[in-house]
Amino acid sequence: MPPRRDNDFIDADSESDISILGDDDLDTRGGKGKGKAKAGDKRKRDKGKAKAKDAQAYTWEANYTRSWETVQEDEAGSLRSSVEDWMARGRRRRLLAPASAIRRTIIRHLVLLLDLSASMMDRDMRPTRFDLTLQYAREFITEWFDQNPLGQIGVVGMRAGLGERIGDMTGNPQDVLRAIADRHKLEPVGEPSLQNAIEMARSSMNHLPTHSSREILIIFGSLTTCDPGNIHDTLDSCIKNKIRISVVALAAEMKICRDICDKTGGQFGVALNDGHFKDLLFELVPPPAQRALSRAAGAGATNPAADLMMMGFPTRLPDTSPPSLCVCHSEIKSEGFLCPRCLAKVCDVPTDCDICGLMIVSSPHLARSYHHLFPVKSYNAVMAIDHAVDSAKGCHGCSRPFPVAVAANTSEGLSPVGRYRCPECHRDFCSDCDVFIHDVVHCCPGCGK
Ligand SMILES: [Zn+2]
Ligand SMILES: [Zn+2]
Ligand SMILES: [Zn+2]
Ligand SMILES: [Zn+2]
Repeated sequence: MPPRRDNDFIDADSESDISILGDDDLDTRGGKGKGKAKAGDKRKRDKGKAKAKDAQAYTWEANYTRSWETVQEDEAGSLRSSVEDWMARGRRRRLLAPASAIRRTIIRHLVLLLDLSASMMDRDMRPTRFDLTLQYAREFITEWFDQNPLGQIGVVGMRAGLGERIGDMTGNPQDVLRAIADRHKLEPVGEPSLQNAIEMARSSMNHLPTHSSREILIIFGSLTTCDPGNIHDTLDSCIKNKIRISVVALAAEMKICRDICDKTGGQFGVALNDGHFKDLLFELVPPPAQRALSRAAGAGATNPAADLMMMGFPTRLPDTSPPSLCVCHSEIKSEGFLCPRCLAKVCDVPTDCDICGLMIVSSPHLARSYHHLFPVKSYNAVMAIDHAVDSAKGCHGCSRPFPVAVAANTSEGLSPVGRYRCPECHRDFCSDCDVFIHDVVHCCPGCGK
């Protein structure tokens, strides 16, 4: 019975490709009836062929109906209220975040562990789990480096029962993206081995200094793992090495994955659909609070005093300087950075000097890491305009006038008059500026806090 179901499954899959293409074309061609008839045909055929399979709910079908049903027009036929609602959700999430300063690790080392086993060819996520994972991994890496400019990422794959080094630990986003750019080199095959892959990731982080974080993020599509030994030994050594492991599972929860995350202080989540998959990944972009790590690592790890670490700001060589060899690649080129301590020439910052080991950073990198430690306070939604106090002036950020009409949409966290006030400088900002300030600028233009 199982092989027959498999066949049907693949069959139904390839047909649904066609019907989805038809659905997409609806807008442009207006062939509504045609597309619907096609989908109906398909469903009937599926039912006839595979009674064992309940034909009503495929994940992608649910997705395709949902995406346009959630968008609601208001009376005037505009989508504005939906967009506002969506923005308000982000605002509410920010309000829930702890306002007080938490100790966070801003120098992070992450190994991205990709499942490249045969189960990643499953089509329950579109187009396949594998392609979607690669796409999200790229977005994740870009965002991660944007938020953690002092961090480094390495990539390890697991396939055919082995852990496979795909990209070395590096602080250059382009290098990491290049490592996973060629999908043909990453073609999924065989069984995954959690133990082998985690051991490989662990060995690449053994040499790291104690002030930086060690993290492993596993994107896991399988429901099995074939390991050469006892994976609990690996788990124990990860706890000892203070490696935090997070897992985003694409299929279902596995006890061992949950245990690994709980015991190392990481996060575990099972993606319900494409959007949720992305949410789970991007939750791991901000640096983890250190408190959780120390709890997981047991006694002795809590260190109330701050560790001071040495950093150097390099001298940038102009493009017109005489060419010389760099210490990192032994290439002759003009541009580069000089280590302030040993005057060795390196190609890129941030990095550790290959000669003297000093951490070399540029000040903008440091400043960009800073906002995680001292986030901009959430603005308060202004509930009603007090004409004596609030002058008719526009938004303090963009100088555009505030909306005159009172919006009907007054859900939680949303200002009915479209004004958001900084609790420090009491200046008003429009909704767009509020989002921009908190997500991009990380600094209040009114008070600089
Ligand atoms: Zn170099
Ligand atoms: Zn040096
Ligand atoms: Zn504004
Ligand atoms: Zn302010």
